[in-house]
This record gives sequence, structure tokens and C-alpha cells, in this order.
Amino acid sequence: MSIIVRCTACGAKNRIKEDSKKPPVCGKCKTPIIIQQNVSPIHLSDADFDNFIRNSHKPVLVDFWAQWCAPCRLMSPVLDSFAKSQGSIVVAKLDTDHNPLTSSRFQIFSIPTLILFDEGKEAKRMSGAMNLQQLESLLKPWITIN
Ligand SMILES: [Zn+2]
Repeated sequence: MSIIVRCTACGAKNRIKEDSKKPPVCGKCKTPIIIQQNVSPIHLSDADFDNFIRNSHKPVLVDFWAQWCAPCRLMSPVLDSFAKSQGSIVVAKLDTDHNPLTSSRFQIFSIPTLILFDEGKEAKRMSGAMNLQQLESLLKPWITIN
């Protein structure tokens, strides 16, 4: 069995053998590939952003971030926890340096910026780092408790 995993560093698609003994690295940039099957955050790019947002059955929270941005690094574990703590909102990330088209289309002037897309449309925008409690309270209207 092999799966296609997008490299988080350069965006290249890699075919990875699931039973491989060696830890996988990106064929293009040699960055180790982290296999996150069905686990958010999902890494989006200019190429698949629209399709993903439009076709998602659930609201999608997108973290617009960049590797050099310190507050973004603070947000990263918060988003991981948020993704695991609830099932109503899909969590995705877009690297603004590697995906300038989407970033300029949504006029991302400062990062981190979080945008919640509901039914394909921007429903809420938040800027700056925040903790899990703040994030949950801002997104409360979209979180359904089962
Ligand atoms: Zn790569």
C-alpha cells in the first residue's frame, strides 16, 4: 500500500509506502515527511485551496502562517489541540510564503491570521496568536457538541 502525502516544506506530492522501514523524506527537498492520515491540520496550497474549501462538508478553519513567524509557532500546538478537541471544524494551514496567490486574494497582511470558512465563504477572521480557550470561545457558534 502506498499513499500520497504532500510535503509540508515545499508542497511536492510524495508517494509513500506505508510499510516502509525507513522514515520517509521528500523526493524534492529531502525534508522528512510526517504522515498524518486523517489527522488535522491539513496542509493546503494555492493549487488545492479552493477545491478543499468549496467541497468541505464542515466549516474549515485556515491558519495563514509562515515558518519565520514566531507567533505562528506559538499557534501551532494550539491548533493541533483544537483539531483534536472537536469534530465540527476542520483545521487546515496555509504557508503564506509558499502560497502567495491565496494569501493575497484573502488580503493577509499580518500573520498568524485565522479565517473560518463556512459553506465556502469567509465567516470569521481572527488575527494574532491566542490560546485554546480564546480560540474555542471565538468559534463557539460553529462548534456543535455531540
Ligand atoms: Zn519537499
